[in-house]
Amino acid sequence: MTGNEVASSRSIHGAAAAGPDADVVIAGGGPAGLMLAIELCLGGVTPVVLERLGEISVIPKGNGLVGQIVPVLDYRGLLDRLSAGATYAGPVPGFAFGPLQLDFSRLASSPLHVLAIPQRRLEQILAERLAELGGTVRRGHELTGFSQDDDAVTISVTGPDGGYQLRAAYLAGCDGAHSQVRKLAGIGFPGITSSEVYRIGRVTVPAAMIIRRTGEVEVPGAAPAATRSRRWRAWTRRPPRTPTSSPRGRTRAARTSTAR
Ligand SMILES: Cc1cc2nc3c(=O)[nH]c(=O)nc-3n(C[C@H](O)[C@H](O)[C@H](O)COP(=O)(O)OP(=O)(O)OC[C@H]3O[C@@H](n4cnc5c(N)ncnc54)[C@H](O)[C@@H]3O)c2cc1C
Repeated sequence: MTGNEVASSRSIHGAAAAGPDADVVIAGGGPAGLMLAIELCLGGVTPVVLERLGEISVIPKGNGLVGQIVPVLDYRGLLDRLSAGATYAGPVPGFAFGPLQLDFSRLASSPLHVLAIPQRRLEQILAERLAELGGTVRRGHELTGFSQDDDAVTISVTGPDGGYQLRAAYLAGCDGAHSQVRKLAGIGFPGITSSEVYRIGRVTVPAAMIIRRTGEVEVPGAAPAATRSRRWRAWTRRPPRTPTSSPRGRTRAARTSTAR
């Protein structure tokens, strides 16, 4: 967003009676926000997408899409270009859903489709599609608050050139698991969570940990597992809260089933 556009947003807000700046403001330019923006553009509404990060994050997050969303992307004409950046795209013969192993081999064809694509690549392609449809993502623009009246929502934004406000008929909170929009709207997040804590790290395995003869990797605290994969997951259980418990918990490691 340019300085002029910011000034224009401020002045439009100053003359709020003249109408909103946008029909829809989307907070968050991740997969959900980008997909919603694309759908709105296809429906004739060009939203303003606010994304607090200046660039698409390189931190590894999602590794792919599973289920009906894959055929849905095909209906939207997006599957070909997404498949081009994927390590796998298509039906799978089975799937591990937690401890439940789903086996589709007895069916004529597998109903479960997988698109194995890193999240940053997915976001990049969705952003390109949005641009083709005339939409933009205001990168480096963070929603910091909002209020609503009978006519519209007034959204406070901090951008590279300072703070400004936008008025919109609708605000969509696509700002992730810790959604500011959800919290400010007073929407709860009831439910329970697992006692397990998952952490992902990117590490360089020292050569001394690799068993040359077999190619296995020796992870301290875990039984060696044969693998040539470069992706690993290690599980460590939170120790029970008793004074006598081991502070290290139990650790095990295994090769992930995802692509290398
Ligand atoms: C470490 C990790 C590993 C994961 N691995 C997998 C996996 O293997 N498979 C899988 O399916 N899923 C995985 N996930 C989950 C997956 O990343 C999420 O399901 C997905 O990111 C949700 O997309 P989203 O668009 O709803 O939210 P997000 O991707 O979180 O996008 C929200 C966006 O909103 C922006 N934002 C937040 N607050 C504001 C604000 N106030 N103003 C403006 N912008 C804001 C953020 O910068 C972000 O870009 C993983 C997640 C993490 C963290």
